[in-house]
Amino acid sequence: MKAYIGLGSNVGTRQTNCLHAIELMSRAGMLVTAQSRMYETKAWGVVNQSDFINMCVEIEIPLTPFQLLEELQAIEIQMGRHKSYKWGPREIDLDILFCGEQIIDEERLKIPHPYAHLREFVLEPLAEIAPEFVHPLIGKTIVQMLRRLQTP
Ligand code: AMP
Repeated sequence: MKAYIGLGSNVGTRQTNCLHAIELMSRAGMLVTAQSRMYETKAWGVVNQSDFINMCVEIEIPLTPFQLLEELQAIEIQMGRHKSYKWGPREIDLDILFCGEQIIDEERLKIPHPYAHLREFVLEPLAEIAPEFVHPLIGKTIVQMLRRLQTP
């Protein structure tokens, strides 16, 4: 199954943190098939914290979405992510943005990620690697959603 992961870091060596997370994802058996550039972005939701580095990757996985969530959370913990407040500073944040066409709406896992279509720091890197991917709930491509967000 093809999945898209959003990476973010605003603590420590942010670029290295993102690359390290990708390395750990590969080691966990995820085949990384595409990788966006890194973007420096202002913190979202909670201000007064350091800027983030954000990027997206495409992976091919032999896992269910819940197994994927567990693997990603293990990587976050392994990389020293401390329990922080919602949207607070973090060494690495790994969000499942999409898992093929799947739709999941549980407390522990929501796919598509509920904010994916509202965040330029998600859509911009995603537009590099999956411009024509269609949001399974909204029915619009990544590029269409990005344009809509950027139109005043
Ligand atoms: P955060 O602190 O923003 O990384 O949120 C982590 C929490 O969001 C975890 O408890 C996850 O179980 C939950 N969650 C729900 N949907 C997703 C998703 N699509 N990707 C990653 N975490 C998710």
